[in-house]
Amino acid sequence: MDDNAFFRRTVLIVDDEPINREMLGAILGGDYEILHAGDGAEAMRMIGDYGMTLSLILLDLLMPIMDGYEVLQKLSEDETLKRIPVIVLTSEKSAEVKSLGLGAVDFIPKPYDMPEIIRARVQRTIQLAEDAALIKSMENDDLTGLYTGRFFFEYANRIEQYDSGRDMDAIVVNINNFHLINDLHGRDTGDEMLRSLADNLMTELGSRMGVACRENSDNFYLYVQHLDDYATFLESIVTRMRRTEGIKNLHIRMGVYPSVDHNVAMETRFVRARHACNAIRGDLSQSVAVYNEDMHRRDAFSHQLLEDFEDALAQGQFLIHYQPKYDISGEIPTLVGAEALVRWQHPEFGMISPKDFVPLLETYCLISKLDRYVWNEAIAQIQSWKASLGVALPVSLNISRIDIHDYALKDTLLAMVREHNIAPQDCVLEITESAYAGDAARIVETVADLRNEGFRVEMDDFGSGSSSLNMLADLPLDAIKLDIHLINDMLGNCRSLQVVKLIRGIAKLLSLPLIAEGVEDKEQYDLLKSLNCDIIQGYYFARPMPADEFSTLLHKGD
Ligand code: C2E
Ligand code: MG
Ligand code: MG
Repeated sequence: MDDNAFFRRTVLIVDDEPINREMLGAILGGDYEILHAGDGAEAMRMIGDYGMTLSLILLDLLMPIMDGYEVLQKLSEDETLKRIPVIVLTSEKSAEVKSLGLGAVDFIPKPYDMPEIIRARVQRTIQLAEDAALIKSMENDDLTGLYTGRFFFEYANRIEQYDSGRDMDAIVVNINNFHLINDLHGRDTGDEMLRSLADNLMTELGSRMGVACRENSDNFYLYVQHLDDYATFLESIVTRMRRTEGIKNLHIRMGVYPSVDHNVAMETRFVRARHACNAIRGDLSQSVAVYNEDMHRRDAFSHQLLEDFEDALAQGQFLIHYQPKYDISGEIPTLVGAEALVRWQHPEFGMISPKDFVPLLETYCLISKLDRYVWNEAIAQIQSWKASLGVALPVSLNISRIDIHDYALKDTLLAMVREHNIAPQDCVLEITESAYAGDAARIVETVADLRNEGFRVEMDDFGSGSSSLNMLADLPLDAIKLDIHLINDMLGNCRSLQVVKLIRGIAKLLSLPLIAEGVEDKEQYDLLKSLNCDIIQGYYFARPMPADEFSTLLHKGD
């Protein structure tokens, strides 16, 4: 075998006639390491010793003690050893069918009068077996033995080709908080859990037509003949796993795109199942979610927005609204800045909130394009207000977690402020807390760089969940902005109020101003004032508004 000529394969010749063994040995000995066995029992012992280091077995059928059929039978019962190819040595045509049924792959007729043909058959058989093993190792996930994601779609499509009318489901299965199982019980337990889930899924599916794979980590995809009762299917798997794995707190969720539309691409069927699965993430009271009309509408909406994005940007459909920020530390609240917030004036859907498109554009890495547009417009606006008022009103720009990974970020912003003749100090950059969870080292470096250039940096949405005190210790900041949900909740939920007070204390300790956004009424305002919150942004003062309205507010000198 040319590609691996440096290592000689081992061939076991099993025959009770020494003369036959010697003849074959002489034919093959130049190319292979040869082992001999005189009967089936001796062969089985040697196969046990040499295992998968054997590249081929040449097997006589009629032998004393244990015959060749019994050897084939025993090999076929062993999951590993059955992968060693066997060529049967026979002079009887009738034996061929029976040995084929037992797993033999080829025949060499006796007597051995054509050495070239024997050598060619042996070489071809070994090559085929090795190719098959290689393909299998790429197709299958080492841990669970299921298909890998790459091959899964190929096989799912094959089912589609051969049986296009069958009622099939696309299913995504995921273990809730799998990373916690790894953290709390160790990686070995995590691996065991994944193997167990794979085994149980296969058991529960039984002989149902379909394919399964582990896509990555704890995501499993099933493309199977339609199931009637997903809850019972999942429940029996979870109950069994809780018992066998000894983890009581095990929760598995399942997203189903049932009775798939065969006109929809295979990958899209799984996007839908995943969408359903994600819809119940974090909600342990639900374990099964079925893709529905509502999800379909949202998917179609997102799809449409992505399609329209480039044109919308070129046609100026993105509008920037400004929401004032008031310093409330003195007697009377004073206007100290604004936040630039983008909206999409869509010709078909009307005014769309950034909540509907910013996360989408982040997922598809398009947000940086939009952000550059927004920053440029907002910086031009700062310049225009500076020209009409004589002083610059600092405007906050939102920096997406995706922008943090853009090495050109600092230069882009510097070029914009230079072009519009304002100072970096006139811009405040809001970086959301969740960006830190993504890549701590990168964000610390970026923030330090930006501040060195004179930009001010505020931590947005602080307290939204991924907060860590390390972050505050590491990050050089100019202000902390409380997460809007804490402000929403603080009057009705004492835990939220405690968190607000805690963050108040931390900000004081770090000598950082504390900003509250989402302040809607007097009660919230009074409470924040009593807690010495420094700056407030919210409907209590004003909603985000177009630039010209904001100009009127500025000229009133409010
Ligand atoms: P954010 O940066 O935390 O912005 C504050 C959000 O709170 C804004 O929502 C604002 O309109 C809203 N808000 C302010 N006061 C109140 C209030 O009193 N009550 C209530 N219920 N809401 C209030 P908006 O404009 O819908 O923006 C949502 C999020 O979208 C922003 O959260 C920000 O993360 C993102 N976003 C907005 N514009 C941009 C942008 O230009 N670039 C990027 N990357 N993200 C943006
Ligand atoms: Mg913000
Ligand atoms: Mg915020």
